[in-house]
Amino acid sequence: MNKFNYHRRKSSVVQIGNTPMGGDYPVRVQSMTNASTMDTEACIEQCIRIIEAGGEYVRLTAQGIREAENLKNIREGLRNRGYETPLIADIHFNPAAAEVAAQYVEKVRINPGNFVKSIKKDNSDYTGEEFERERLLLRERFVHFLNICKQHNTAVRIGVNHGSLSERMMNRYGDTPLGMVESCMELLRICREENFYQIVISLKASNTVLMINAVRMLVERMDAEDFHFPLHLGVTEAGEGEDGRIKSAVGIGSLLADGIGDTIRVSLSEDPEKEIPVAFAILQATRTRITKTEYISCPSCGRTLFDLQKTIKKIKEATSHLVGLKIAVMGCIVNGPGEMADADFGYVGAGLGRVSLYKGKTCVLKNIPEEQAVEALLALIEK
Ligand code: SF4
Repeated sequence: MNKFNYHRRKSSVVQIGNTPMGGDYPVRVQSMTNASTMDTEACIEQCIRIIEAGGEYVRLTAQGIREAENLKNIREGLRNRGYETPLIADIHFNPAAAEVAAQYVEKVRINPGNFVKSIKKDNSDYTGEEFERERLLLRERFVHFLNICKQHNTAVRIGVNHGSLSERMMNRYGDTPLGMVESCMELLRICREENFYQIVISLKASNTVLMINAVRMLVERMDAEDFHFPLHLGVTEAGEGEDGRIKSAVGIGSLLADGIGDTIRVSLSEDPEKEIPVAFAILQATRTRITKTEYISCPSCGRTLFDLQKTIKKIKEATSHLVGLKIAVMGCIVNGPGEMADADFGYVGAGLGRVSLYKGKTCVLKNIPEEQAVEALLALIEK
């Protein structure tokens, strides 16, 4: 990929219910419920909060057959209330639960690290023959699952997590980005042999640097084998508050800036719907998906000629409903016009109590009194 000429990686399109992913479709935003999957009403309520916040897919865990069966009721409850958003089942350890869930929801996530049990009874190294025997067992169970997905038009996410690789992969590659990539590539080759292409991939870790390395390595390996599946990005266990948001922005944002990524999930230790605005802010900051007005404002300094914070607040309140505009608020004329060159409109301090307004790079109103300036800017934008 060319580091100096941004373009989005060309991925294949995967049909997930009524919301396709990949290709030229917008990078999708999703979240995951944290209510018990056996509590149908609580899950429906939580799904609705995620959807109302802007979530385009909702994932629910299904740790066993009972939970996987209950996805049917949750889905029906949501559809009865008019919500068509695709649901995703999240499965670990239990391929039988994945097979049940695939009949009821639009996509199933499996973890190749725990899809089948290890054949080893001790901690000795895998021989080549043992490695292959276990791979064939995984293949058999995975193909059975894919056949059910084919019957029900269910998409699949191969979700590899650092820290939960299979013993076989750990033994050969260690808990490394290479081990994560190999775990994934082995299943992709099976998908190709079985003619199954409704596949999304994720490689996640709580260590942002490791996660970024693993995904970049995977993209290179997929390109070499002519695989173009869409990618789901996320930093696991990112935490909460500012730390969780920054960690997510660094991990997800770095890859988006590379042009990699077709759906994102910000994982916060907070209510799931709180993840959605953060996800959209990361997409906006990487200019991957524009959904709101962008504000460009200087930090202010000794040259600032008006109350910058109060002015920004006022302008934001009046314009935050507009989509796709860039509005600059700059403290002074010295650096203001040059540094806001990217903006559609500019509000720049011109002298004590005086403001100049810009449309693009052109000054359209000069030295107007500060108390009239916000109104004048809004009138200019409206015009
Ligand atoms: S734009 Fe002017 S007021 Fe704002 S930080 Fe730069 S020099 Fe200071």
